[in-house]
Amino acid sequence: MTEDTFLAKASALLGPRGLTADADLMQPWLTDWRGRFTGKALAMASPATTAEVAALVALCAAHGVPIVPQGGNSSMSGGATPDEGGASLLLSLRRLNAIRALDREERKATCEAGVVLHTLHEAADEAGLRFPLTLGGKGSATIGGLISTNAGGGQVLRHGSMRAQVLGLEAVLADGSVFSQLTPLKKDNRGFDLKQLMIGSEGTLGIVTAATLRLLPAVADRVVIWAGVASLKAARALLLHCDDAAGAALEQFEVLPQRCLDAVLDYLPDSRAPLAEAHPWHALIEVVADRSSAEGLRERCEAMMAGAFEQGLVTDAAIAASESQAEAFWLLRESIAPAERAKGPAVQHDISVPVERMPEFVEAAVPAIEAAWPGTEAVAFGHLGDGNVHFHVLAPAGQDMSWTTADGATISHEVNDLVTRWGGSISAEHGIGQLKRDELARLGDPVALDIMRRVKAALDPAGLLNPGKLV
Ligand SMILES: Cc1cc2nc3c(=O)[nH]c(=O)nc-3n(C[C@H](O)[C@H](O)[C@H](O)COP(=O)(O)OP(=O)(O)OC[C@H]3O[C@@H](n4cnc5c(N)ncnc54)[C@H](O)[C@@H]3O)c2cc1C
Repeated sequence: MTEDTFLAKASALLGPRGLTADADLMQPWLTDWRGRFTGKALAMASPATTAEVAALVALCAAHGVPIVPQGGNSSMSGGATPDEGGASLLLSLRRLNAIRALDREERKATCEAGVVLHTLHEAADEAGLRFPLTLGGKGSATIGGLISTNAGGGQVLRHGSMRAQVLGLEAVLADGSVFSQLTPLKKDNRGFDLKQLMIGSEGTLGIVTAATLRLLPAVADRVVIWAGVASLKAARALLLHCDDAAGAALEQFEVLPQRCLDAVLDYLPDSRAPLAEAHPWHALIEVVADRSSAEGLRERCEAMMAGAFEQGLVTDAAIAASESQAEAFWLLRESIAPAERAKGPAVQHDISVPVERMPEFVEAAVPAIEAAWPGTEAVAFGHLGDGNVHFHVLAPAGQDMSWTTADGATISHEVNDLVTRWGGSISAEHGIGQLKRDELARLGDPVALDIMRRVKAALDPAGLLNPGKLV
């Protein structure tokens, strides 16, 4: 069977908008977000319905054509980029972009895989509700991609990752059959939870075509606080204090060292440090309330911070006086990545260790890496409450990008070894993709890896779904 026969059949199935082999049209989708991987594809298919996806996958199965599913192409591990062989079909889910239903009373929405996260936020907002997960790539990331990577973000602390938001799922399996469990059941003990198996499987077990997602009442008010603390251990104690004081209203708790803040202040024109003095660590705290609990929120936060001062947990703090000041605080946090990029090459690690061990881990790992590779600068920042930090190592001054694949690669090896020794994960949020596949094989629990490979072989015996990724 020739490629031409397959393409002719795919074209007949999907119509002119549904298939292209035009190099210019495909080009933006063949390199990953961070520009680390570039691949080739036979063609790019863009089906518009679940039925078209199912028929296309069945056609691929009949012709032995590998499939690389893709949503917004905003992920960080090269999971949506085909290999360089050019034999795979790039399967874009972006045309499956309908919100099939949004139920205000039941607080749930059924979205197709290609719905962009920001679009869902807007739709929920119009209904007086919210979808409780957001991240920097919200203008590109799709529901299918978010589910397939089990994406996180700052709100995991309170609401959990994507896994916790999915109430129902529809997916096309490797043989073209459709697994449909979109109707949520609060209680259902009919064996394995198959939708959970699909979540986080990075397109290797099935193609997500739609999902039913939970929504919450909209935020009526929020208070954003910037606090200076003496150590990461003190930041953790502050987190526990806020959790006790604010309870379910504690929405986000992020940490960054002074070094990160300095880099951001150098990078962002007209930016100002929220506190007068430098502090070893900073915490950015957000407390939110819906309409039923908005009254007195600010006073409750002030009392919470007074308690923190009394217990010696903070050395200074500022409560944003307005929404624009709150935005300015968040801008400082969100500018860490570009500020760091402006400083030069770096290797990034999205890692987790048991929450209670995070301060100890960072205090051990930062000096260990800097001592072993003189001139490097190691920084850890991010989601302390989830035991997840971005652990970045910046190259010594004067290095170019080739450093990332030379010393940088050896450093990443060492960071992954350290994380594993501390009982942590080499991928807290961003998935494995092709970036960390070999490291997962090297460091993963052999029994867990064996189970994953057996599940993969059972659901995709021909190995056509996203080959070369994850396992
Ligand atoms: C500025 C910025 C900030 C970010 N911040 C965060 C963050 O805080 N937390 C976080 O977790 N991530 C973050 N990300 C990463 C990214 O947004 C997430 O990984 C997101 O889930 C990717 O969605 P996508 O639609 O772009 O997926 P893609 O990049 O297109 O695909 C991701 C993976 O899912 C597979 N896939 C995609 N769609 C489907 C489908 N329908 N069915 C089966 N498999 C599919 C792909 O094959 C690939 O393996 C950030 C990205 C950017 C650019």
